Amino acid sequence: METISFYGIFPMKRVLSGIQPSGELHLGNYFGMMSRMIKYQNENDLFCFIVNYHALTTIQDKDRLMNNTINAAMDFMSLGLDPEKSTFWVQSDVPQVCESTWLLSNVVNLGLLDRSTSYKDKLSKGLTPNLGLYSYPVLMASDILLFGGEIVPVGQDQKQHLEITRDIATRFNNIYGEVFVIPEPEIEKSTKLIPGIDGQKMSKSYGNTIPLFGEEKNIRKKFMSIVTDSTDIQKPKDTDTALFHLFSLFLNKSEKEELANRFMTPGMRYGDIKKELFECFWSYFEPFREKRIYLENHKDFVFDNLKKGAEKASLVAEGYMNKARHAMGLNFGSTNV
Ligand code: ATP
Ligand code: MG
Repeated sequence: METISFYGIFPMKRVLSGIQPSGELHLGNYFGMMSRMIKYQNENDLFCFIVNYHALTTIQDKDRLMNNTINAAMDFMSLGLDPEKSTFWVQSDVPQVCESTWLLSNVVNLGLLDRSTSYKDKLSKGLTPNLGLYSYPVLMASDILLFGGEIVPVGQDQKQHLEITRDIATRFNNIYGEVFVIPEPEIEKSTKLIPGIDGQKMSKSYGNTIPLFGEEKNIRKKFMSIVTDSTDIQKPKDTDTALFHLFSLFLNKSEKEELANRFMTPGMRYGDIKKELFECFWSYFEPFREKRIYLENHKDFVFDNLKKGAEKASLVAEGYMNKARHAMGLNFGSTNV
């Protein structure tokens, strides 16, 4: 499906993705998804949302969820997401996603949910399994299908969820007729799996993140605690490590080669590299910090924009909901018969 831009016969794709307010947004979120979404807003029809229903699977503290949600919205806007150029909202402000989750639940192949690696990873990290966490991919399918998402920029961890979404949409369309668009994941090779300070996937819920905003001292500490090995200082160092991968995010091709050479050179100290990496990070995000402080002091502006975004998103959701209700024989009473 192609939508036509208001600015001429310019084919615009609907690009859609969401982020959980399950903790502080981090470097993995930024390079794995947010920065790409922000670039898309200029040439595409961008739908971006804070998926607070998803965060309920791991957070059961009202104040924490509320704070994380507004913080995630402010982070995104500070980093360049423009609500005027995109549709930006909080998931629970368009509750139709819950209704469509139920409809889609009835065409889900349970084997796919059983094989979800993201679910298994979370269990292995000690998260309490609940039905919400297990059926997370169905709500995610609903998030994408209800808004006609065509391209979904995500990290590697979401690849399987996108396959489940495609499976659900295809099954639904086969049974009930063409209602949903089949989305395509967009995963960037160099940023698909950004390691945390412990070398595992950086994740809000794993306590191994480097946050995008916060106290300089605290963030410096995070960089200094990136896991390294105990290779002798005179020996070459491994470049397939969290430290090297994290530094590479800020480097171009030749700078990356230069860093690799330093890793090979005797005498290189991990501590020095960590300090340099922190400086790189700090200056990279410098331009966004002022905007972040401004938004912190103008939260009404953020809420207003989220409300407008939810209104726009609701119209699209209602369109798909009506089609789905009709297709399934649910169009009684107040729905458009
Ligand atoms: P949680 O631990 O609660 O699942 P998370 O840190 O994994 O949180 P999500 O909100 O689940 O973050 O993911 C938001 C987006 O960021 C998704 O597109 C996801 O693929 C991407 N992402 C998350 N972590 C990474 C990472 N370490 N590397 C690359 N992309 C990532
Ligand atoms: Mg995640």
